[in-house]
Amino acid sequence: MESDEAITKITTIETKTVHVKIEYWDCGDGHHHKTEDSARRCVEKKEKSKEHQLQRDAIYARNICCARKVVSGSALKDVAEAMCISQTRVGQIITSILRRAWLVGEHKGIPFQLGIYEVRKNKDFWLKQIDLLSMAYFSGHRPGGS
Ligand SMILES: [Zn+2]
Repeated sequence: MESDEAITKITTIETKTVHVKIEYWDCGDGHHHKTEDSARRCVEKKEKSKEHQLQRDAIYARNICCARKVVSGSALKDVAEAMCISQTRVGQIITSILRRAWLVGEHKGIPFQLGIYEVRKNKDFWLKQIDLLSMAYFSGHRPGGS
């Protein structure tokens, strides 16, 4: 009788679960680093690039501020003194910011001129352009930034 039972018995197949434990070093970015060293290097790299970006942002903000002041009528000399940079540098910053500001928004027939007296004649237009540039940069498009 025992052998008959064995023949009629249906072999059951079931699912089994195997748990695999994976240990990794967490850099906080979702990477699975195999060594502490590599996770540490990853974190350091990230911190450095964040620092550089913050520096670039601070410089950009300063440059925008410089351009706003000069366009609004402040003397180059005063702005240079307030920002602890040379007048030549202020001039370079204004040129660079105005060139970039020109590339955002609409110009409505206003010619591109870098002469400070011409720029001041269209002060409202240029201040608006500088605002647009600043918004574009700090909303992440970063024209002329990184
Ligand atoms: Zn990482």
